[in-house]
Amino acid sequence: MKKTLKSTTIKKMENKNIKTVYVDDTNKITVICPKCEIEKNIDVTNFKDTHKKLKAKCPCGEVFRLTLEFRQTYRKNLRLTGEYFVQEKNEKGDILIEEISASGVRFSCLKPHNIFRDDLVELKFNLDNPMRTEIRELVKIIWINDRNVGAKYIDQNRMKRIWFFT
Ligand SMILES: [Zn+2]
Repeated sequence: MKKTLKSTTIKKMENKNIKTVYVDDTNKITVICPKCEIEKNIDVTNFKDTHKKLKAKCPCGEVFRLTLEFRQTYRKNLRLTGEYFVQEKNEKGDILIEEISASGVRFSCLKPHNIFRDDLVELKFNLDNPMRTEIRELVKIIWINDRNVGAKYIDQNRMKRIWFFT
């Protein structure tokens, strides 16, 4: 089975020693030919469920291999310890971050809290990546269910970048 995307041909293959390419949240990848260094942006939406390993052929004749790495939109069942600060009420406390998505987080407060819907809250926690990236992010509270809280990032673009590169 062959698919032609502009002048680059990609088809399924089963070889090892493949370069991993991360797919961004618009389902596009940037491929650089190792020989002539021509750069191509390719939409890989159609490969999402079928072709994780690909062979690309550059117009210069070079053939090279890649694996597509699709990011999951959500990461659930996390247990990252952190803190919250409700700035206007001068209130803070310990939390467990339990779910992170590209647009927000869900966390639980370890003690009774004084957080309400629409509050602006600063969250501080470390990701579980090798760098243990520290996140300090302002969020808006969307829902509250006892000690469980759902919130959205105020700066959506910044967190999307962090989300993608960690
Ligand atoms: Zn080339």
